[in-house]
Amino acid sequence: MTDKKIALVTGGTRGIGAAISKYLQKHDFQVIANYHSNDEAAEKFKNENNVDVAKFDVADFNSVQQKVGEIIENHGTIHVLVNNAGITKDGFLHKLTEDAWDAVIDTNLKSAFNMTRAVVNKMRDQEFGRVINISSINAQKGQIGQTNYCAAKAGLIGFTKALALEGARKNITANVICPGYIETDMTGAIQAEILSEIVKTIPAGRMGRPDEIGALVAYLASDDAAFTTGAVFSVNGGQYLA
Ligand code: NDP
Repeated sequence: MTDKKIALVTGGTRGIGAAISKYLQKHDFQVIANYHSNDEAAEKFKNENNVDVAKFDVADFNSVQQKVGEIIENHGTIHVLVNNAGITKDGFLHKLTEDAWDAVIDTNLKSAFNMTRAVVNKMRDQEFGRVINISSINAQKGQIGQTNYCAAKAGLIGFTKALALEGARKNITANVICPGYIETDMTGAIQAEILSEIVKTIPAGRMGRPDEIGALVAYLASDDAAFTTGAVFSVNGGQYLA
């Protein structure tokens, strides 16, 4: 056991999640970084950063309850939950398969229910909690080929606002960040020509860096952010002003 506050970051071993894990660690949280299948990346992240990792599928309600229950048993509680894990399975709606719809909704939206449900009673009992959800610019502005992703990420915004209202009297804050295009494996999978067209639409003239999301998460997790709840933060270089 430790005196440090405990933070659980889903998808916390790669990309934006890895930056979030590192920022929280730097700000004196004991971090547990969840991941799904990339053992090699998780092992490397663990060894390089001395962060505990936990492998489970955030889309699976029962395995989340079991694994998060074990984490709470080992560490006593969880103070900060960052729902960051996410996937894309793009396709025009007229061709989109049911599997692509379900996978994206379950991994990007149902996961927030699965995870938050697993920690919220502890947060209520201890009268402290920080839930930070990672949505997307595409929830705000829409994106061709992403009805599933936009629906899931927009759902996270409503989820966050309702949770903020429910948690306020118990000092549980809930906030949501909508990143623009950030340099990670996810955006690395976009064709180079398409990506360079996208960058032309960003007033800052560049993509964002994972650290630029990590820094905001560290603030929202801090005691200084106690009065900040139900808020939607756009971090997108001016690409879309919601
Ligand atoms: P990456 O693809 O680089 O990393 C995704 C992380 O999520 C990995 O750690 C992965 O685990 C984990 N993950 C995926 N599915 C599951 C699952 N079912 N259970 C547990 N963990 C899972 O993504 P990014 O860092 O780019 O994105 C992070 C978040 O930010 C996502 O929610 C994304 O939608 C959002 N976002 C990203 C933007 C960008 O430009 N990059 C823009 C706007 C929003 P593993 O390593 O095992 O595969």
